[in-house]
Amino acid sequence: MTVIGIDLGTTNSACGVWTDEGVKLIPNRLGDFLTPSVVGYDDSGKISVGRIAKERLISHSDKTVAVFKRLMGTDHKIEIGSGSYTATELSSLVLRSLKEDAETYLGEPVSRAVISVPAYFNDNQRLATKLAGELAGLKVERLINEPTAAAIAYGLHEKNEGTFLILDMGGGTFDVSILEFFDGVMEVHASAGDNYLGGEDFVDAMLNNILSSENIRKETLSRLQLQTMYMKLESAKRQMDARAENELSFELGDKIVNWKVTEEWFTKVAMPLMLRAKRPIETAIRDARLSPSQINDIVLVGGATRMKLFRSAVAKLFGRFPSCNLDPDLVVTMGAAIQAGLIEKHKGLDEVVLTDVCPYTLGTEVNGPEGAGGGFFLPIIERNTVVPVSIVRSVQTAHDNQTEVAINVYQGEHRRVEKNVFLGSLTAAVPKGPAGQEVIDIRYSYDMNGLLEVDVKVVSTGKKLNKVIEHAAGAMDDATRAASLKKLSALKFHPRDQEENRMLLSRGERIYETSLGEERDYIAHVLAEFDAILERQNQLEIKKARQQLEEVLKKFDNEEWF
Ligand code: AMP
Repeated sequence: MTVIGIDLGTTNSACGVWTDEGVKLIPNRLGDFLTPSVVGYDDSGKISVGRIAKERLISHSDKTVAVFKRLMGTDHKIEIGSGSYTATELSSLVLRSLKEDAETYLGEPVSRAVISVPAYFNDNQRLATKLAGELAGLKVERLINEPTAAAIAYGLHEKNEGTFLILDMGGGTFDVSILEFFDGVMEVHASAGDNYLGGEDFVDAMLNNILSSENIRKETLSRLQLQTMYMKLESAKRQMDARAENELSFELGDKIVNWKVTEEWFTKVAMPLMLRAKRPIETAIRDARLSPSQINDIVLVGGATRMKLFRSAVAKLFGRFPSCNLDPDLVVTMGAAIQAGLIEKHKGLDEVVLTDVCPYTLGTEVNGPEGAGGGFFLPIIERNTVVPVSIVRSVQTAHDNQTEVAINVYQGEHRRVEKNVFLGSLTAAVPKGPAGQEVIDIRYSYDMNGLLEVDVKVVSTGKKLNKVIEHAAGAMDDATRAASLKKLSALKFHPRDQEENRMLLSRGERIYETSLGEERDYIAHVLAEFDAILERQNQLEIKKARQQLEEVLKKFDNEEWF
């Protein structure tokens, strides 16, 4: 059965499959390859995912959520409407939507997937992603690091060896990774980044610059005025390369402000952000002990790397142009789809062996040197070990007449466990005796998905314990999982074939909100007409009206919002 490759992104998600002709990206129900990672309730209490939800993000902010990927692997509950959900549950709704689109496209049920995750995701976050897949009815065959997926999409694994720099700037985050490829192993060598730097910050910088030049305080503007201004600037930013200058007009308070967006102005406004972007690049290169000339390829990922300013800054830094012939919003999906093909053992892909590494050290808590007490970290699987891997280390009882030993599992690089991430714990019963008498073997096994299994054996009694680290924050035990599935299955969704109509209505409503006067009346009128046609349920009539409404909305919605 087909395995699909999924990029579960912070702003957008997408999926694809490997076929005889290579990667095929899967369009969603609206015909787009990108599905915004946005979930919301609509007025009828049904769940919307993707573009429809995104249209309502600002106007119905209490019922719509985005950027929940940032909370993956935590217990944090996000309130929407009357419900409250974890990031895992919300992600499962996005995955469910992609799964349905894939099933329609492929004409068969889909139940297996490869999902990409940021290279810096820890065990909890990886597990939460896997669980989101399960809640959506997908067996997650493999989690693949996003930079690794991007490198595969560019075919970098077909070279014998190399060192690659992956720069991923999306809407709100910037991730820098250095990959080293040698002997079929793709290793994430160093990663750095700025969790709060992305394409949106460039628009904010433009907006703030205009307001301060005009002596207007943000607080004095209405939500709609700010939203309209933001959208116009977002669109101008995207058009920067195509047009030398762009005349914009904003209604700000009771003032009309005309502004010329030029490359020169944008370069000046964006400079502090470009300097910020340079920092993690330098850190990653320094951490990997490389010089820029040792990087064989630079790969760009994420919509914001389309900015000419970004590309030329990178070219200047490295003295050559980055690889950017693939769509930066879809490279990770392409790589995930290739990985899916590898799992299916698709012909044409079978010579490629791809392995990965454990990106961080996994270990257990032990006592320090004589008299130092507990709280020290004993590494068991060192970072950058090729996976799958299984390693045993032995520990001994620390006190006389100890009856049990707690095996606390941590991830991190610090010698004190409190500075590392706690992943879980097991308790083994031991026979009483003098300190150091009882020996406990601890085996850590780390699989290709970045999931850790811990086996504990008390040598004298032969007693064994086993645990897949699942009960950490954000993960769920069987009862919680069942409750989650029940909660999600009670949600109501609109039929797929009505999505295009609903999308147009949401878009119309957004435009209605941001317009005024006659324009507003006109939009209200065309929306009401469309509503009436939908009521009549004549499919031919609906199709025609949909095309007409699309034309009308296009005239008002001159900004490329997506
Ligand atoms: P992503 O999360 O990868 O979808 O990235 C979205 C970000 O990319 C947003 O901040 C967009 O403004 C930005 N972006 C998309 N296309 C362009 C473009 N042509 N020029 C500049 N920025 C863009």
